[in-house]
Amino acid sequence: MREVICPYCQQDRVWRIRLQGESEEGYPHAFCFECDTLWENGDIINDLTGINYEDYMESKGGKADWKLIQKGYAANEM
Ligand SMILES: [Zn+2]
Repeated sequence: MREVICPYCQQDRVWRIRLQGESEEGYPHAFCFECDTLWENGDIINDLTGINYEDYMESKGGKADWKLIQKGYAANEM
């Protein structure tokens, strides 16, 4: 399996993450720490998917706080 380079900024690998307080096991989201793009669980990671972290948290009624992000492991291509 190959690691996924962020399709937006191409500066870093995409990582699997969990947001603090989420009950899901494992690391349900994918995230680029360079450009703060988040992919929901199950999203195909490409440059048509994903959402800016601040927009994502606003859509959930929350604030974008980078301390909430728990880094898992490098995402692999499916
Ligand atoms: Zn990126």
